Amino acid sequence: MSKTHRGKGVRGMQNKARGTCPVCKTTRIKLLYDRKLEDETTAKVCKRCSVKAAS
Ligand SMILES: [Zn+2]
Repeated sequence: MSKTHRGKGVRGMQNKARGTCPVCKTTRIKLLYDRKLEDETTAKVCKRCSVKAAS
């Protein structure tokens, strides 16, 4: 379970975990973190947005 966001763990993910962040709309960023959105759905977001999510 360790380091699932790095190295081999990422490699096995779809498109190497890259995509468009639903929060900041950054394209081709790695979406590694689950975050609950305002509509109560959970989506993968980028590192920056996972940190911001605390508020
Ligand atoms: Zn983001």
